[in-house]
Amino acid sequence: MKLYNSLSRKAEEIMPIQDGQVGLYTCGPTVYDHVHIGNLRTYINEDILRRTLKANGLKVKHVMNITDIEDKIFARSKETNKPYKELTSHFEKVFLDDVKRVGIDLSESTLVRASEAIEDMQQVIIKIPNKYVAEDGIYFDIAKYPEYGVFVKLDRSHSHHRINNDEYDKEHVADFALWKAKQPDEPSWDFEVDGRNIEGRPGWHIECSAMSAKHLGQPFDIHTGGVDLKFPHHENEVAQSHSASGKKLANYWVHSEHLLVDGKKMSKSLKNFYTLADVIDKGFDPLALRLLVLQAHYRTEAHFTWDNLEAAQNRLNDYRAMAALRWQPRKHLKDASTYILRDIPKQFAAILANDLDTPGALSLLSNIATQLGALDLDSENANRYNNVQDFTKLLEFLDDLLGLKLMNVDDISDEQKDFINQREKAREDKDWTKADELRKQLEEAKIGLNDTDHGVIWYPL
Ligand SMILES: [Zn+2]
Repeated sequence: MKLYNSLSRKAEEIMPIQDGQVGLYTCGPTVYDHVHIGNLRTYINEDILRRTLKANGLKVKHVMNITDIEDKIFARSKETNKPYKELTSHFEKVFLDDVKRVGIDLSESTLVRASEAIEDMQQVIIKIPNKYVAEDGIYFDIAKYPEYGVFVKLDRSHSHHRINNDEYDKEHVADFALWKAKQPDEPSWDFEVDGRNIEGRPGWHIECSAMSAKHLGQPFDIHTGGVDLKFPHHENEVAQSHSASGKKLANYWVHSEHLLVDGKKMSKSLKNFYTLADVIDKGFDPLALRLLVLQAHYRTEAHFTWDNLEAAQNRLNDYRAMAALRWQPRKHLKDASTYILRDIPKQFAAILANDLDTPGALSLLSNIATQLGALDLDSENANRYNNVQDFTKLLEFLDDLLGLKLMNVDDISDEQKDFINQREKAREDKDWTKADELRKQLEEAKIGLNDTDHGVIWYPL
């Protein structure tokens, strides 16, 4: 399996440290507000990476942090007059709900809250030789770390100022906070350093260094995140971890590109800042957003417009119509369908193993949907070419790989099947009024009908 490694700036064959097993670390959310759909893009791409590793025979140990201690949280807590823990536990739930809705599976992942890893972070800070204590905290001294700058070209001419803010983005070198001295109205922990107690709380960057090494070892295999985290967050993670242990942090770094809204970066001032709730309010399925994301390769900018989302929703409906064929077996098996159903899983796994080519995988899926729509499925043939079984297996495989929940397309009721038969009869009798009436009733129950050469086929609307 090949992935583009941001460290080497080229596609590389993945060689796990331990045979057959991959350690995967994802930078998680800061839980002070809703995540926006751009953040969701990153998490969806990471979910596809995890699923692709599994489909290619690797066991995945996945760890994600939940940032519940950070500047923005305390600012919001003061602004809204809410205890910070109330804020973080609420938005952690909202986040987990959002990611589930867009088909992200964290059921086998380890989630670690920053507030529960303070001691681990302190242990890393203690081991960093090039740190110094200032009045407002403990800093990483960049001047004493010449390797700084693995991801971006940096201007080192400013090397002697400090930055206390976690989210600076100016691309010049500045000493960053490992630990921040106690502030009023902020939680704090004792921290004994060089014989003195520096009460305070961790800076943001240190949590990922501490948690990844604790749960995955150091180095571990793959570190992921949005491209906006490359600098300073990932740069700082690499520097801290390497400085503290002399070892590399991770072998492969995979970064997901931005999602643009109407051609621009999302921002609250441009009013193009959307959350999953906005998508649902407009009547779209959260999985249509997932599909919109997967239509773009993770290393290219993806474009969100309401029109694009509608196109993705239509595509999702096509896939669901394909999945509904599972309930509508027919005779007259054609040989080609056996090939489609049996050999396709390998093709999907191989396409995605090529640096997560999700657009390629979806075009194959659309192809299959078209071909299967034109073929008959055989239910009564119980020999080894029982296509309904093979088709169900294919859908299960696709759900595991792409997370589009195609197996959730249920059968219709006996009463509805009877409506379809009555409509067929009415059409034979040329009773068009009755046929239309029955069609309308089915449409109200969100069932569409397609009259084909091999009979009528229903699909979910
Ligand atoms: Zn991180």
